[in-house]
Amino acid sequence: MPVNKEAYLQLIPELRPNNITLVAVSKTKPVEDIKELYDFGQRDFGENYVQELADKQAQLPGDIRWHFIGHLQSNKVKFIAPFVQLIHSVDSLKLLKEINKQALKNNRVIDCLLQVHIAQEETKFGFSEKELEDLFNTNLNELHELKNMRIVGLMGMASLTDDMDKVRNEFKFLRILFERFSKLPIANGKLQILSMGMTSDYKIAIEEGSNMVRIGSLILGEREKKN
Ligand SMILES: *Cc1c(COP(=O)(O)O)cnc(C)c1O
Repeated sequence: MPVNKEAYLQLIPELRPNNITLVAVSKTKPVEDIKELYDFGQRDFGENYVQELADKQAQLPGDIRWHFIGHLQSNKVKFIAPFVQLIHSVDSLKLLKEINKQALKNNRVIDCLLQVHIAQEETKFGFSEKELEDLFNTNLNELHELKNMRIVGLMGMASLTDDMDKVRNEFKFLRILFERFSKLPIANGKLQILSMGMTSDYKIAIEEGSNMVRIGSLILGEREKKN
């Protein structure tokens, strides 16, 4: 499937005036497709698999901002720590500590989003509301010690459903958490990024306050593997 230039060129004026960052999700797509969007000016790309991301990063221009959006295992952080721009999918304190450790080794500060479980599906990763509260209430001092990472926002994925009211309610819920926790000075940062919305639901996500959308199939074509 080729890059859908028309869709891309239509999307930009929908997003840019509202300061919404587009992360082009390029998982499973070849470097040639990424280069094509790059030549249109796209710089933020998102990947789900560590090995695939590391391989692509090595072959593509150095000014691409790489976002890691998939489930991240602690033992793999070291492979992306030298270059990753933003990790969207942090779901434990243990992972934050490992990111901090690897960032320190690379003499960097790595920005992170906490993934919040907003969908009904059991399989989705992320903090629950209660777990987020616990993280900030009981571990705030510990978080402040992690000087090489910054928590800069929240990420969520809505249920995979045609019920758009349900999707909207899940995004509303995340927005409320975001507003609430944005008031706290958290872990060397402040919540500023609300990453929500993909091909099927990005318009709703934007209406509900998203300022970063992660869009793959709309602009890069359907993927073969389900993911
Ligand atoms: C694959 C993926 C996307 C993009 O999905 P599309 O439906 O192709 O836009 C966004 N976010 C995450 C976390 C993903 O895994």
